[in-house]
Amino acid sequence: MGHAGYIDFHCHLDDPCFDGERWRIIDQCFSSGFSSLVTVADAYDENSLARTAEILDYHGAMAAVAGAHPHGADGYGPAVEKQLLAFLDRRPVLALGEVGLDFHYDLAKRENQEAAFRRQVAIARERALPLVIHSRQAEARVLEILNLERFAAPVVFHCYTGDAADAAEICARGYFLSFSGIITFKKAEALRAIVAATPLDRLLSETDSPYLAPEPERGRTNTPLAVMRVAQKIAEIKNTDISVLLTGIAGNFQRLRP
Ligand SMILES: [Zn+2]
Ligand SMILES: [Zn+2]
Repeated sequence: MGHAGYIDFHCHLDDPCFDGERWRIIDQCFSSGFSSLVTVADAYDENSLARTAEILDYHGAMAAVAGAHPHGADGYGPAVEKQLLAFLDRRPVLALGEVGLDFHYDLAKRENQEAAFRRQVAIARERALPLVIHSRQAEARVLEILNLERFAAPVVFHCYTGDAADAAEICARGYFLSFSGIITFKKAEALRAIVAATPLDRLLSETDSPYLAPEPERGRTNTPLAVMRVAQKIAEIKNTDISVLLTGIAGNFQRLRP
């Protein structure tokens, strides 16, 4: 290969839409020069956790994060937390996630989103696990809660779509921004400016597949293979050689590991 390899920092390979194709897609990634893929398990869903365990068993370079998404926060409680903790005890996860606040869709009450988020920040703190953050129109409040909870381990804002000021604050704190195929969308000029301004030692690449296919496949089922296009776009925006970018991303990924 000659370079560090592609990393899809955030995908949902447990998604039932990948049934029957999951192993072929993973094989294809590793034969296309990937060094790792991070699949995201949904702590509300036993099937998601079980499939994630299978995915980890399938290939030694797979990594996982697990957590309770803000969309489901109205259903967060002791049963979900018990399920999450049992998974964390059994499996070496890279981070707790995706957790956070979504004030765009507001699918759960904001007070419940905050309560579920803070519970999980506390769990991550106790276990010295990094956090993978899902934030939509809530970056300032997420940053506030991380302060209130005195969170000290690494933090990644996945699929970043916030503004430039919050991005600068995230980088200044030593946290990471992970960019998805959204950076290829026509109307994403402001986001591309944020990519350009993000230092190489603060960024990661992801697909959030099966969601968010990059241009020109926008609207179709996305797969982790599309992270190659995301990385190429980041390199193009930053006017950087792809191998330099991938080396930077690989270094950032390593720094998340205990
Ligand atoms: Zn998300
Ligand atoms: Zn996601």
